[in-house]
Amino acid sequence: MTERKLPAHLHPDTLAQRTAVDKSQYGENSEALYLTSSFVQPSAEIAARRFAQEEEGYTYTRVGNPTVTSMERRLAALEGTEAAIATSTGMAAILLLGMGLLRTGDHVVCSQSVFGSTMRLFSGEFGKFGIETSYVSQTDVAAWRAAIRPTTKLLFAETPTNPLTDVCDIQALADLAHNVGALLAVDNCFCSPALQQPRRFGADFIIHSGTKYLDGQGRVMAGAICCDQRYVDEVFLPINRTAGMVLAPFNAWVVLKGMETLGIRMQAQSERALAVAQWLQTHPQVGRVYYPGLASHPQHALAMRQQSASGKGSGAAVVSFDVKGSDSASLRRNAFAVIDAALVSSITTNLGDTKTTISHPASTSHGRLTEAQRQAAGIGQGLIRLAVGLDHIDDLKTDLARGLDLLP
Ligand SMILES: *Cc1c(COP(=O)(O)O)cnc(C)c1O
Repeated sequence: MTERKLPAHLHPDTLAQRTAVDKSQYGENSEALYLTSSFVQPSAEIAARRFAQEEEGYTYTRVGNPTVTSMERRLAALEGTEAAIATSTGMAAILLLGMGLLRTGDHVVCSQSVFGSTMRLFSGEFGKFGIETSYVSQTDVAAWRAAIRPTTKLLFAETPTNPLTDVCDIQALADLAHNVGALLAVDNCFCSPALQQPRRFGADFIIHSGTKYLDGQGRVMAGAICCDQRYVDEVFLPINRTAGMVLAPFNAWVVLKGMETLGIRMQAQSERALAVAQWLQTHPQVGRVYYPGLASHPQHALAMRQQSASGKGSGAAVVSFDVKGSDSASLRRNAFAVIDAALVSSITTNLGDTKTTISHPASTSHGRLTEAQRQAAGIGQGLIRLAVGLDHIDDLKTDLARGLDLLP
């Protein structure tokens, strides 16, 4: 079947529908799911050339699979990078990043507000191999600069952060890294490429947990690194085809379908998040509201500039807020009461789902920190995190008011 070639310079909405490997001989409109562990070779001679990497062609799914390739190409098209390499989970993508870039004696500077497992991976696991990580304040560029050593190879940031939605200046960190011959990786989970493309601001590696907004309906786990083709070919693929942290074809297919609605979901979920945040600000039982889309957010202007891949600034879809209370015990009691009174929002720590989720960071996602560490991070017992989905805004307000209105 002759393939029609896609025109150059399509909009992200269109790329999200169309970017994939060529269709099979059947001309399926929805991309095929190649649920196979290996690929039959036309001849022994061709098999030999493919295994020697002298000829293109799929051999074994740990090495490559067309459904996974489609997902990688679609994500790279949305992020504006040359290439992407998919992994089994978001954490596997960060593990692959470290395995590819870091050696014994190397140093990493990382935001102190990154995903908890990311910290444990850097300090606990990479630490075993003599790689040191320094943690600095997310928003303090001077602190990042001061932490740099002659051995610094990588800067790692996540923006906005979970759960307090602090926003860092990607361009400033990229300039800092590149001035000292280091590289910048940005975890782009919270915004997704629909709202923020870190490559535009100089990031070398964009990390994804496809488990979140790329899938968008909380069904599968997936991850990826988006970067230049040469890093995929020379650094990451040789490791992943050996180490096997590959994305399963079925999961790749689910994420591929998820990305088709990514732009419109991010837009709709962000609009709902802004409406909830504005409403929470007016509630007498609510203290501070953390949401980059609010003018009161300390990095509001930066967020509106940086999170504007859709054409206008967006605060993304995670909103956190403090309930009021007199001491630590009453704050926790009040937060639990609000969470337990919610009948629509799911009590779970996952985010990126079209079903709104509600959680208490201090006792769940950040429960392993000491009370002192939590206080330093600003995560109090009264803090509630909402990952706003596609539930109707009036139902979400009613759901929260049910608990808030009863607080003492
Ligand atoms: C969930 C998450 C990860 C880890 O992704 P998994 O797919 O759960 O391994 C990494 N970074 C951020 C910001 C996340 O929210």
